[in-house]
Amino acid sequence: MTANKTPKDTQADQAAAQVEAQANLAAAQEQVLATVHPINGPQAQEELEAGGEAPSPQQVTDFAAEAGSEAKAAEVRQAAAEVGIPTRATWKQHGNPLSGWEFFGTSVKTPNPKGIKVAKVEVNPQGVTLLTRGSRAIDGGAFGSATKFWAVVPAEAPRKVEEPKAPKQERTVAEGRTSAADQLAAALAGDSAHAPAPEGYEIRWPKGGYDLLKRTPQAPADSPPWLVRCNTHNLTTPSVGGKAGDALGTKAGRLEWCSGCQADAKAEAQAAAKAAKAKATQEAKAEAAQAAEAAKAEAAQDATAEHDSAAKSEG
Ligand SMILES: [Zn+2]
Repeated sequence: MTANKTPKDTQADQAAAQVEAQANLAAAQEQVLATVHPINGPQAQEELEAGGEAPSPQQVTDFAAEAGSEAKAAEVRQAAAEVGIPTRATWKQHGNPLSGWEFFGTSVKTPNPKGIKVAKVEVNPQGVTLLTRGSRAIDGGAFGSATKFWAVVPAEAPRKVEEPKAPKQERTVAEGRTSAADQLAAALAGDSAHAPAPEGYEIRWPKGGYDLLKRTPQAPADSPPWLVRCNTHNLTTPSVGGKAGDALGTKAGRLEWCSGCQADAKAEAQAAAKAAKAKATQEAKAEAAQAAEAAKAEAAQDATAEHDSAAKSEG
């Protein structure tokens, strides 16, 4: 029976375990090198080979940070984790691990020499709290979601699956049922395109360029039943009905009664006429300049011809 070990046996076991751990680490470091080199290129490899040093947790963490994408960084962390090298990252970057991983502290430069097994992670809106198997909070193991910490997270560690956001609850008909006037009031609240209705009227059909306003019971008896309002110029014209108001509210319709639209149209026409006139003047000028140039060229040619013929007759 070997169930009861002597202290000497225990010591020997520990020494053997240490040797084995060393050997494992050496093999592990080679694996990490093989994993990170393709990502970091030959330069990193040369440097490491020249120094003869296996990557430290900080180096592997740097490799991950420089990997170029979060997916590649995760690959580097995974490779390191497989060989027992802690890397520093946020809980999310570590892959939202819930249990079955080791925590090596939040120190910036180096991980703690010994990891603490994490049996449970409590997730709250502020961050995470790490717990041991006895549900005891781990010292220094409560931090915000932006905090980076050292960890070895095996590939098989259970992860928190990001839940898809719940669709917005549809309002029930009873809750949503409001009067047409209330809906209009809500639609018009804070909408500067629609000025408040004049006294004795309410906005019944808000539109883009115009609104149809209906007489309220409070309006004086001789008020027209409907008003059409130009929303650009805030002027109104009476209408016998809502439908008739639509015709008065179109752009052409408003030109019939809104002095503002009429003035705008006139100014627009004047501006267009002015632009056309300026263009015509420009074209006439250009034409004249071209004609002058042509005449000049012709004159020069004539002079040369004259000179040539004179030279010929002399010779
Ligand atoms: Zn107008």
